[in-house]
Amino acid sequence: MITTGIQLAYLSAAALFVMALRSLGQPTTARRGMQMAAFGMLVAVCATLVDQRILSYEWLTVGLIAGGLIGYPLGMWVPMTAMPQRIAFSHAFGALAATLVGVGEYLHGFDEETLTHGKTIALGFEVFLGALTVTGSLMAFGKLQELLPGAPITFRGQNLFNLSLFAVGLACLVWLIVSPYSVPLFVAILAIGLVIGILMVMPIGGADMPVVVSLLNSYAGLAAVATGFALDNNILIVVGALDGASGFILSMAMSKAMNRSFTNVLFGAFGTEAGMSEASQGAVGEMVAIEPEDAALRLAFARRVIIVPGYGLAVAQAQHQVRELADLLEKRDVDVRFAIHPVAGRMPGHMNVLLAEAGISYDKLFDMEDINERFSDADVALVIGANDVVNPAARTNRSSPIYGMPILNVQDAKSIIVLKRGRGKGFSGVENDLFVSPKTNMLFGDAKQSLAQLANEVKQA
Ligand code: NDP
Repeated sequence: MITTGIQLAYLSAAALFVMALRSLGQPTTARRGMQMAAFGMLVAVCATLVDQRILSYEWLTVGLIAGGLIGYPLGMWVPMTAMPQRIAFSHAFGALAATLVGVGEYLHGFDEETLTHGKTIALGFEVFLGALTVTGSLMAFGKLQELLPGAPITFRGQNLFNLSLFAVGLACLVWLIVSPYSVPLFVAILAIGLVIGILMVMPIGGADMPVVVSLLNSYAGLAAVATGFALDNNILIVVGALDGASGFILSMAMSKAMNRSFTNVLFGAFGTEAGMSEASQGAVGEMVAIEPEDAALRLAFARRVIIVPGYGLAVAQAQHQVRELADLLEKRDVDVRFAIHPVAGRMPGHMNVLLAEAGISYDKLFDMEDINERFSDADVALVIGANDVVNPAARTNRSSPIYGMPILNVQDAKSIIVLKRGRGKGFSGVENDLFVSPKTNMLFGDAKQSLAQLANEVKQA
């Protein structure tokens, strides 16, 4: 009776997760999607807690309190701009849990002499994938948080060495399946997994790290699937599969939006010093500054304005100020649209979330492919803290590391105003010729303050 109840609860949780993923595809339903996923997780956790195989609740209570104490601050206080490293950190915890469960189950099976070939496959995969996700995610966290150098760390024959070690790990796994009671083999798989995680992320530059974090998410999902098989737990298998598949699809989508092939991300050492120095010398010419009064007049008397938000808007938390400015311009019959690049900011959908938070209507937000043609009709393109996603080098400079990345056609607008603090480069560390173009004027300063000044001036225009 209880077992049937648990399985039914798992089934409803799985349905909630699938519906949640679907809702997350649209900004309008994303919030509901998150609520459904959280409720589904609550159902799954409660169902697991009534499982008859649980002998004592003391350690579970300790885990619940520790998890709550770590999770609450992570959810409440980590800013949106630090989301990639926060996610990497969470993956390390998830994978650590899977790895520890794998080690525990293996030792338990060893003592009880219940290690079948089937169970050993699941445990071996769980520990191998779990271990490499733990160290890989911690490396990604360290690089994104700038605790470790963000530039790729490479050595001769690195890819061959990594692939050979991976092959040794897999060979140990196969051997363990043949002789499940060989503890040294199990320990070797664990150790090789931990080392591969470090080696795998070492040669990947900061700019590609979010793609790697998403890929590690996929590995953590696969480790959870293996845990599900090892523990005979259906919800872990379903959730792990959803996590593994969605993480992989997201990595592919991000690579595509950056026009980078998957193998290039994993083995290309994007952002090596040699490649960067050439591209960093790109911009030749002087940036021309503009005063807020003049910029405001240009905006106020324009017919069409396209606003291009980027990472700097998120750093400045200027979403409410940009909305105020857009409202003021619209009151003056200016046609205002927002151009959203798929990888603007630091995570997919970053700009949509930010602008939605300020209540900017979705019908004002246009995807890159829908708005790119319209830049040539725009009197002003107002670039707010965006850099790489508007860098013409992606089209024109074959030696640039971002060559081939689709960009917003800002350079086609009749005039361009760029809001940024100074001469800081974008995430890729590449210079941007757009800023020295004769059509461009720079309004230097924090985006929030600059937008507030512009709004004030537009009111008086
Ligand atoms: P960039 O990182 O290219 O540039 C941001 C710019 O904002 C900087 O040049 C900086 O210049 C400026 N800035 C920072 N803080 C402020 C502030 N307070 N006020 C005003 N300006 C500020 O951002 P983009 O959005 O153009 O590009 C995103 C990059 O991230 C791309 O390279 C993309 O490939 C990468 N990426 C994105 C992912 C995603 O999913 N969204 C995933 C993986 C990578 P200054 O210091 O002079 O102010």
